[in-house]
Amino acid sequence: MAYVIAEPCVGVKDKACVPACPVDCIYEAQKMLYIHPDECIDCGACVEPCPVQAIFPADELPEKWKFYAQVNKNFFPEKSEDKAWNGQVFPAEREKNAPKH
Ligand code: SF4
Ligand code: SF4
Repeated sequence: MAYVIAEPCVGVKDKACVPACPVDCIYEAQKMLYIHPDECIDCGACVEPCPVQAIFPADELPEKWKFYAQVNKNFFPEKSEDKAWNGQVFPAEREKNAPKH
Protein backbone atom coordinates (compact mmCIF):
# COMPACT_ATOMS: atom_id res chain seq x y z
CA MET A 1 0.00 0.00 0.00
CA ALA A 2 1.22 3.49 -0.80
CA TYR A 3 -0.05 6.99 -1.06
CA VAL A 4 -1.21 8.16 -4.47
CA ILE A 5 -1.44 11.57 -6.14
CA ALA A 6 -4.73 12.07 -7.96
CA GLU A 7 -6.35 14.51 -10.34
CA PRO A 8 -6.41 17.72 -8.24
CA CYS A 9 -2.63 18.02 -8.66
CA VAL A 10 -3.03 18.51 -12.41
CA GLY A 11 -2.66 22.21 -13.15
CA VAL A 12 -1.54 23.03 -9.58
CA LYS A 13 1.82 21.31 -9.14
CA ASP A 14 2.94 23.66 -6.40
CA LYS A 15 5.26 20.99 -4.95
CA ALA A 16 4.20 21.67 -1.36
CA CYS A 17 4.23 17.90 -0.80
CA VAL A 18 7.83 17.38 -1.89
CA PRO A 19 9.73 18.76 1.13
CA ALA A 20 7.23 17.07 3.47
CA CYS A 21 8.25 13.60 2.31
CA PRO A 22 10.95 12.07 4.52
CA VAL A 23 12.07 9.58 1.87
CA ASP A 24 11.98 11.82 -1.23
CA CYS A 25 9.66 9.54 -3.14
CA ILE A 26 7.54 12.27 -4.80
CA TYR A 27 8.67 13.04 -8.34
CA GLU A 28 7.74 15.97 -10.54
CA ALA A 29 6.92 15.64 -14.22
CA GLN A 30 5.20 17.81 -16.76
CA LYS A 31 1.57 16.89 -16.13
CA MET A 32 1.66 16.35 -12.35
CA LEU A 33 3.66 14.74 -9.56
CA TYR A 34 3.86 11.02 -8.85
CA ILE A 35 4.58 8.94 -5.74
CA HIS A 36 6.85 5.93 -6.11
CA PRO A 37 4.74 3.09 -4.66
CA ASP A 38 7.73 1.01 -3.51
CA GLU A 39 9.62 3.90 -1.94
CA CYS A 40 6.62 5.40 -0.08
CA ILE A 41 6.65 4.42 3.60
CA ASP A 42 2.96 5.32 4.13
CA CYS A 43 3.69 8.03 6.67
CA GLY A 44 0.98 10.39 5.41
CA ALA A 45 3.15 13.50 5.90
CA CYS A 46 2.44 14.74 2.37
CA VAL A 47 -1.35 14.85 2.75
CA GLU A 48 -1.73 17.94 4.92
CA PRO A 49 0.57 20.30 2.96
CA CYS A 50 -1.31 19.70 -0.31
CA PRO A 51 -3.57 22.72 -0.86
CA VAL A 52 -5.99 20.81 -3.09
CA GLN A 53 -6.26 17.46 -1.27
CA ALA A 54 -4.78 15.52 -4.15
CA ILE A 55 -3.06 12.85 -2.06
CA PHE A 56 -4.80 9.72 -0.73
CA PRO A 57 -3.84 6.34 0.66
CA ALA A 58 -4.35 4.00 -2.30
CA ASP A 59 -7.25 2.21 -0.62
CA GLU A 60 -9.04 5.48 0.14
CA LEU A 61 -8.97 6.98 -3.34
CA PRO A 62 -12.38 8.25 -4.44
CA GLU A 63 -13.95 5.83 -6.91
CA LYS A 64 -13.51 8.17 -9.91
CA TRP A 65 -9.77 8.51 -9.20
CA LYS A 66 -8.94 4.90 -8.40
CA PHE A 67 -7.03 4.59 -11.67
CA TYR A 68 -4.45 7.08 -10.37
CA ALA A 69 -2.94 4.25 -8.29
CA GLN A 70 -2.00 2.64 -11.60
CA VAL A 71 -0.98 5.97 -13.16
CA ASN A 72 1.43 6.70 -10.28
CA LYS A 73 2.81 3.15 -10.42
CA ASN A 74 3.24 3.13 -14.19
CA PHE A 75 5.29 6.33 -14.12
CA PHE A 76 8.11 4.25 -12.68
CA PRO A 77 10.79 3.10 -13.06
CA GLU A 78 11.33 5.01 -16.31
CA LYS A 79 9.73 8.24 -15.00
CA SER A 80 7.75 8.28 -18.22
CA GLU A 81 4.45 10.13 -18.41
CA ASP A 82 3.69 8.44 -21.71
CA LYS A 83 3.87 5.13 -19.88
CA ALA A 84 2.01 6.47 -16.83
CA TRP A 85 -0.94 7.57 -18.96
CA ASN A 86 -0.88 4.71 -21.45
CA GLY A 87 -4.49 3.51 -21.77
CA GLN A 88 -5.85 6.38 -19.66
CA VAL A 89 -7.34 9.66 -20.80
CA PHE A 90 -5.61 12.71 -19.37
CA PRO A 91 -8.12 15.18 -17.80
CA ALA A 92 -7.57 17.98 -20.33
CA GLU A 93 -8.27 15.61 -23.22
CA ARG A 94 -11.27 14.17 -21.43
CA GLU A 95 -12.81 17.65 -21.26
CA LYS A 96 -11.97 18.34 -24.89
CA ASN A 97 -13.74 15.14 -25.94
CA ALA A 98 -16.73 15.60 -23.66
CA PRO A 99 -20.06 16.09 -25.42
CA LYS A 100 -21.11 19.74 -25.69
CA HIS A 101 -24.18 20.79 -23.70
S1 SF4 B 1 3.04 9.04 2.57
FE1 SF4 B 1 5.03 9.71 3.42
S2 SF4 B 1 6.52 8.49 2.31
FE2 SF4 B 1 4.63 8.37 1.14
S3 SF4 B 1 4.77 10.01 -0.34
FE3 SF4 B 1 3.70 10.85 1.41
S4 SF4 B 1 5.28 11.78 2.66
FE4 SF4 B 1 6.32 10.42 1.20
S1 SF4 C 1 1.09 19.48 -2.86
FE1 SF4 C 1 -0.66 18.59 -3.96
S2 SF4 C 1 -1.00 19.95 -5.72
FE2 SF4 C 1 1.02 20.42 -4.86
S3 SF4 C 1 2.40 19.18 -6.09
FE3 SF4 C 1 1.92 17.97 -4.28
S4 SF4 C 1 0.14 16.72 -4.89
FE4 SF4 C 1 0.37 18.33 -6.40
